[in-house]
Amino acid sequence: MSYRDDVQSIAEDIVREHGLKDDSWHDAISESVDGSSWIIYYSHNEEVLDNTDNEPDNKEVACMVKENGNWRDFRQVAAYMAMERDVWEACRKIVENEEFFTCEHCDETKEEDEQSDLEGYCKACVIPCEGCKELIPKSGMDNYGTEEHPLCKDCDKEDEG
Ligand SMILES: [Zn+2]
Ligand SMILES: [Zn+2]
Repeated sequence: MSYRDDVQSIAEDIVREHGLKDDSWHDAISESVDGSSWIIYYSHNEEVLDNTDNEPDNKEVACMVKENGNWRDFRQVAAYMAMERDVWEACRKIVENEEFFTCEHCDETKEEDEQSDLEGYCKACVIPCEGCKELIPKSGMDNYGTEEHPLCKDCDKEDEG
């Protein structure tokens, strides 16, 4: 996988697992970047720096490198900082482009094509009303029937009357 593709797939995993709000991404991004072969292997560091949009400047890198660090350490830290920012950017872009949504019923963050015709709900969390066949959540507030006999608000009223 190319560096760019890998950044994108890491970002998708993070959004899927941690949701659409960026205040819950920080640890996951640090961990993913830290453990990535792009950073672990010196030989891959150069490829990160060749392909990043976020090359850090000298000062930033110098602050982070341990005392007695050699040029490889500098390159590794530079690659780390660059990749971390690339993943942040990719995550934000995913949210901006609305590629994912969080289902109001199961609270899981899923890809846009898993969204049902009932806005805000994933396909796994909706069921047609027994009366009018309109989609309603499987259970909870807007399902006025039972799990076996789901009813929307209107059909529930008719049922009583
Ligand atoms: Zn759902
Ligand atoms: Zn109905």
